[in-house]
Amino acid sequence: MTSLSPLLKQATPVVVDHASGSWIHATDGREYLDFTTGIGVTSTGHCHPRVVEAAREQTGRIIHAQYTTVMHKPLLELTDKLGAVLPSSLDSVFYANSGSEAVEAAIRLARMATGRPNIVVFQGGFHGRTVAAASLTTAGTRFSAGFAPLMSGVHMAPFPYAFRYGWDEDAAVEFALRELDYLLVSRVAPNDTAAFLIEPVLGDGGYLPTPPAFLEGLRERADRHGIKLILDEVQAGCGRTGRFWGHQFSSVVPDILVTAKGIASGFPISAIAAPVALMSKGWPGSQGGTYGGNAVAAAAGCATLDVIRDEELVENARLRGDQLADGLRVLQHKHPVIGNIRGLGLMQGLEFVTAAGDPDAATTTAVQQATTRHELLTLTCGPAGNVLRLIPALVVTEHEIDLGLERLALAL
Ligand code: PLP
Repeated sequence: MTSLSPLLKQATPVVVDHASGSWIHATDGREYLDFTTGIGVTSTGHCHPRVVEAAREQTGRIIHAQYTTVMHKPLLELTDKLGAVLPSSLDSVFYANSGSEAVEAAIRLARMATGRPNIVVFQGGFHGRTVAAASLTTAGTRFSAGFAPLMSGVHMAPFPYAFRYGWDEDAAVEFALRELDYLLVSRVAPNDTAAFLIEPVLGDGGYLPTPPAFLEGLRERADRHGIKLILDEVQAGCGRTGRFWGHQFSSVVPDILVTAKGIASGFPISAIAAPVALMSKGWPGSQGGTYGGNAVAAAAGCATLDVIRDEELVENARLRGDQLADGLRVLQHKHPVIGNIRGLGLMQGLEFVTAAGDPDAATTTAVQQATTRHELLTLTCGPAGNVLRLIPALVVTEHEIDLGLERLALAL
């Protein structure tokens, strides 16, 4: 008998029958409050009626037209809609299917535009699982161990991880920028460096918001040395942080922005956005693939952006995120095993530590499994596996946040 690959062996016993909004209805009749959203994907909630309808309608018109031979309306419309939310300088958009592919497209573009080989990434960053994206990922050895050689030209600099350093944020930023400056004179020549690549909030690396002062320091160094600043908004973008883009907590505008996940509520589509002058440094055929910018996914993306606007979901993410963070701080007072709570909007992480302050992955896993028993779906992350991450849908209600906190309290 054929079975699922052991690579898919899951810690969760949940098999979904159907889902709606913040809820997963399992085949065994149990009803789970979903604070995972398919790892930050189903932004408008499961099966939002407008997204379902847009996809259904598009499926009857045309499902797939490879975009170099036949252009389709949903992709043109999605480009217009993205234009309304992107920084005005990023006036050109290219499409792929997944976050990893879009990250690779961004790296290729930065290398083509500068003619330089090196990419500087930051400790704990997660950028995907294709071989090139895994080469850029430092959120844990499991993402790249065993299939070396990886892509060359990747150099890692420290991330200002204030809690783990035991410092305040300013000191952590100062340290990380100093280390970056040292890297740029010791191991990587600035004029051989194509790009800095960073997430506005480290995702799989532990739900750590990148301090605005650090992003500003990167922008300043990128400008000084002609290096492209690539912001990977795959997990933090599309309203999740309480701003449309995660980097909007700072004054920084990237050279290349990467988006995926929440852009189409679960349909696979991703994009990079850059100034047209930069995008023109690539050439047709250098990027893309058969399925990139699929018509049904693009139609779902259009509906998703409309829903985010019409239902004011960015504002909801901010309000519900504040409510969630307040509730988590109450839990932290009762449970010293929660060493740190951080996040932006509906992207909140709880870092579990032992009495000695070391990462406590065992407790994190136990709590995550206990939330499942209490019908709340959560995920773990972080290089040491000691961060519980909560990623509710942007449509989550006040009542659902309270319920999630109650179930988390029971699990703790
Ligand atoms: N970049 C970030 C920040 C991510 O969180 C992810 C996925 O979790 C990726 C890239 C890779 O995206 P995908 O899994 O769609 O390839």
